[in-house]
Amino acid sequence: MLSRRLAAFAASAVLSTALAVPPDVVAAATFDAPRGSVGIGDPYFPLDGNGGIDVRSYDIHDRYRFAEGRLSGWTAVRLTATAAISGFNLDFLLPVSRVEVDGRRVTFDQRHHELSVDAHLAAGETVRAVVRYSGFPGRYSYEGESNWLADRHEVVAMNQPHMAPWWFPANDHPLDKARMRVSITVPREMQVIGNGRRVDRTVRRGLATTTWAADEPMVPYLAFFAAGSYEVAKGTAQGRPWLVAVSRGLGTAAQREAMGLMMQTPALLHWLEGVIGPYPFRQVGGLTTSLPVGFALENQTRPTYPFMGDGPGAVRTVVHELAHQWYGDSVAIAGWKDIWLNEGWATYFENLYVETHGGATTDDRLREQYAGIPADDAFWDHEVADPCPDHDRCVGPIFADFVYERGGMALAALRNRIGDSAFTTLLRRWAADREGGNGSTEQFEALAEDVSGEDLGPFFDAWLHSTTKPADTAANGLG
Ligand SMILES: [Zn+2]
Repeated sequence: MLSRRLAAFAASAVLSTALAVPPDVVAAATFDAPRGSVGIGDPYFPLDGNGGIDVRSYDIHDRYRFAEGRLSGWTAVRLTATAAISGFNLDFLLPVSRVEVDGRRVTFDQRHHELSVDAHLAAGETVRAVVRYSGFPGRYSYEGESNWLADRHEVVAMNQPHMAPWWFPANDHPLDKARMRVSITVPREMQVIGNGRRVDRTVRRGLATTTWAADEPMVPYLAFFAAGSYEVAKGTAQGRPWLVAVSRGLGTAAQREAMGLMMQTPALLHWLEGVIGPYPFRQVGGLTTSLPVGFALENQTRPTYPFMGDGPGAVRTVVHELAHQWYGDSVAIAGWKDIWLNEGWATYFENLYVETHGGATTDDRLREQYAGIPADDAFWDHEVADPCPDHDRCVGPIFADFVYERGGMALAALRNRIGDSAFTTLLRRWAADREGGNGSTEQFEALAEDVSGEDLGPFFDAWLHSTTKPADTAANGLG
């Protein structure tokens, strides 16, 4: 995500109305096996994800009515029990009317973000749970976020760290990637854009159902759809299909600028591939919405952007979101405390793009920031690798400026410390070795030590685990 230039999070924090849901909302009935837990175990968001299940795929079928803001439909969740359980939870906000497991209706309970489904599953058993629902996603908030983004002409499901619970029931955490197939029904004069590739469009009377499918599993928040009126361009570059879309709601001049920016996507991706190595997905693209969203987001294969013009800052934002395709999407974080691994890398690649296109080097940028931000500035007050230590209302802290900027500085300093060659090996191996998986700060530090052959404990303590400004030393990459 990139919000710092657009300042959306301050605004969304004001809308904070999330209900406090105690973690024991699912009182176990007298079953022989325990229920899967209400969270996957991430202390930043205790209700995110769920225990006892591993989702394989989501097959989402939603209809959206623009005039009322109502979303209704059903999602088939194919999941495997990771232990013997008497029930499992999914994360979802809209009212549910019916749940079936392998075709049989089952009982369920729903309290705010937690949908609790009664189903006895043996360890390793895989079932297809179908959840039917209907509601007004604009009325719901969770963890201080009111994430539904729509007007009467356009809707875009895009947010982080949470978005799925507003439009499909999910095991909503980066640790559980799954395949996504998304079918959206809207009036036939509208278009629908999603992740991956469009596989079907069926028109029935006044409505059209458009289906998108992504070839590679993804984290639930990276699934998106947009519906409205779009100018679409597509083609093939380096043998890879690309598709970009720009909302016609922007008006002619802005639409032309936005399309010019989106059309740079294949070339910017090619530049990133030259630095990082093979792009991890089969499709690429981007979408610019006319909706007043204050941030861009790295939806897998198809990042979404607000209107940004087509200047150098806008190009850097596209680089940022495309860098996330490796750092954040393909290699997802293990927990939300590790978010600097996404944002630090995306920031570093923005700065590297500037360096390789006639601007300041990453070292220039590092030294300028280091010199410009005094030791008593609040910028240094929190640990980069644990930005929300009190585990309270973590959405704001995980996207705080220091996570991006000190994360990017730490990587620029690491490049100074271990040298270009080891640093390049590190960034490539982090992306390649963990492609399609997850990674933690601890694992990243271990790889950096392995690649460089150096003891980097004090370096990482200074840059990632400290609440003070690192000392100006060669050991810290600053000498
Ligand atoms: Zn980002």
